[in-house]
Amino acid sequence: MTQRWDVAVDPRMCVRTGLCVASLPSAFERDEQGQGRARTESSATSEEVLEIAESCPVEAISIVDTESGKPVFPPE
Ligand code: SF4
Repeated sequence: MTQRWDVAVDPRMCVRTGLCVASLPSAFERDEQGQGRARTESSATSEEVLEIAESCPVEAISIVDTESGKPVFPPE
């Protein structure tokens, strides 16, 4: 079975740098308030998405393994 991730941006933490959207527009977009958000909640695992989550300056992007429910980023 293909491994999948649940990707989410915490709107309370996002400071609207636009970095995630500019770096990977296929996975992230801005909402009506200009905050970053994942285009789809569930996605195939992706090194690019992980790199973007790691580069968010406020760690607003979280990734959870869909099947196990374990956090991928930030790590436990
Ligand atoms: S990189 Fe982080 S702070 Fe910047 S828009 Fe994306 S989620 Fe928000």
